Amino acid sequence: MDSLKKYFDFEDAGQCGQLADLLFPEVKETPDDMFRRYPDRKLPEGAKVTRFAPSPTGFLHFGGLFPSTVGERLAHQSGGVFILRIEDTDAKREVEGAAASLIETLEYYGIKFDEGATADGEKGDYGPYYQSKRRDIYHVFAKKLVAEGKAYPCFSTDEELEELSKQDMKTVVKEKDRHIDPEVQREMMLKQRQFTLEDVKQSLEKGEKFVLRIKSDGNASEKHPFTDLVKGKLTVPENDEDFVLLKSDGIPTYHFAHAVDDRLMGTTHVIRGEEWLPSLPKHLQLFRYLGFKAPKYMHIAQIMKLEDGAKKKLSKRDKGANMNDYKKMGYAPECVSEYVMTLLNSNYEEWHRANPEKKYTDFPFSISKMSSSGCLFDFAKLDDVSKNVLSRYTAEEIFNGLTGWAEEYDPDFASVLKEDPDYTVRALSIGRGGKKPRKDFGVWSECKAYMGFFYDCLFEVTEMLPENTDLQDAKRILTEFSELYESGDDQQTWFEKIKEIGEKLGYTSDMKAYKADPEKYKGNVADVSGIIRLAVTGRSSSPDMYEVMRVLGKERVKARLMAYAEKI
Ligand code: GLU
Repeated sequence: MDSLKKYFDFEDAGQCGQLADLLFPEVKETPDDMFRRYPDRKLPEGAKVTRFAPSPTGFLHFGGLFPSTVGERLAHQSGGVFILRIEDTDAKREVEGAAASLIETLEYYGIKFDEGATADGEKGDYGPYYQSKRRDIYHVFAKKLVAEGKAYPCFSTDEELEELSKQDMKTVVKEKDRHIDPEVQREMMLKQRQFTLEDVKQSLEKGEKFVLRIKSDGNASEKHPFTDLVKGKLTVPENDEDFVLLKSDGIPTYHFAHAVDDRLMGTTHVIRGEEWLPSLPKHLQLFRYLGFKAPKYMHIAQIMKLEDGAKKKLSKRDKGANMNDYKKMGYAPECVSEYVMTLLNSNYEEWHRANPEKKYTDFPFSISKMSSSGCLFDFAKLDDVSKNVLSRYTAEEIFNGLTGWAEEYDPDFASVLKEDPDYTVRALSIGRGGKKPRKDFGVWSECKAYMGFFYDCLFEVTEMLPENTDLQDAKRILTEFSELYESGDDQQTWFEKIKEIGEKLGYTSDMKAYKADPEKYKGNVADVSGIIRLAVTGRSSSPDMYEVMRVLGKERVKARLMAYAEKI
């Protein structure tokens, strides 16, 4: 270290102050000015301040709905604040329109923010909420770190900078991908710490660019206990790397922006993907250097999928990864949110069974019930959850959701549904309400197959009569029922008519007797109603036939019975 002494002396406050002024001559404000501008929040005891902080590099990923749902629940359940911060510090990776699309998608899934970026600008007193607009704020703290001998500039050629920044990126994303020998790394790092004030002046005069690095005091073999609220007790090594705080364009790295923003916005709980766990040593060091109290951390496990029997990470390209696709597939947003809740809290489903009428926002979400290992994404489970959710909707709610979806993805079907809204609502009412509502569809795209037969333009007989059906009997059943059917009949009278027609032809309505000796009969009443069902609905299974006929109306029922009688 002796050789370093003849260069810059990080312990010399005077030198450090001069260096800070050289590097940031335009910065006149101090951290105290910042704390005055962003005062501590006055919130009730225990209120949590959380934020969702996506980078606008693409669509909202299913994995992004996790931290945002957790953040929203924890904040709003505790009377706190939930913030949407757009982390747009990496212009190269930014995708045009991505921020607006993220905002729209989050809103679509009912994730409500109290502060931050919105479709019509920003709201809240702790902004700007786009990191690209917070440059001056970061520089105030960067200057402070330099003035305290905790950060230093590193002038290098563009190529060198690129190489170095690549290394930094890798350490952020995947620690294990860093192939540089740690000794070489250390040497490189120490070399960069060797400079004089004169060197810096000259470089600045020549217009050379610098990155600002932290002057790390850590030793990676020293490990400290740490509690992550999701992962539990961990040991975290000290950071020994002089990582970049400001890039050569003066824009902060994620690490630096995270520390500054979360301090000034008053974040109490940082909820983020577990891919950030390897960076935690850097963040803890940075909070300490800046004199900030570190927030509580919750690192959320990645979403996994099952492929060929093995668990794999749900990647961006997988079906189900892009949150915008669910709309097209026909999932109502509430169904997806509900599914996310079942994955997030192990006791959610049990709670919901006990409280079927309540919304997921009534559920007492708890951090301790979160899984610390990867949740498994599964469409079958999502469909199941969806069917349950939709079964509790009123017919009007289904009508609104379905027509909204169809207008965008199946306009012809939308026109059919909307031609006579009352008729459609009546069709959708069948089997709704009551203790055991029907669970026929989980996605809007399944509705056409479920209820298309209500509309003559979509009606067709798609199934065949059972092979052993006596066609003469079938014709008689259809003709006779068409003569007897009255829409004013109550259910019992209606069924008696069917039974009577069957009995006359040798189809018993005594199911016990039939089971005891099937050979004695041509068939039973289920065969009779099966024939009628096929003629009226075109299929062998349908919602309650009595109700279906009442919705279809006498004319239509009779016409269908006769048309089929003629056809067979
Ligand atoms: N911008 C980071 C990301 O998209 C956010 C991580 C965080 O929440 O701190 O991964």
